[in-house]
Amino acid sequence: MTAEIKHGTRGGYYAHRRRRESPCTECRAAINEYVKEYRERKGTTRNRRMETARRAAMNEVRDNHRAEYEEIYQRIKTEHGL
Ligand SMILES: [Zn+2]
Repeated sequence: MTAEIKHGTRGGYYAHRRRRESPCTECRAAINEYVKEYRERKGTTRNRRMETARRAAMNEVRDNHRAEYEEIYQRIKTEHGL
């Protein structure tokens, strides 16, 4: 029983692999596109979580060094004409 391969799809890529044959160009392109999109999604999520961690760290420093923070904040505001 040999199922038809839907070429140019992710499923097609795995079907080739199950048959122990090297995927055709279209199927390889499909899996590359999928991997690329997956990495981009993951990267975006990671960047967002990194930004959240950075902000949490800043807040903690500010709370632990409130007076110093205020001093720096006021100086920078003055420097920026605010
Ligand atoms: Zn194929």
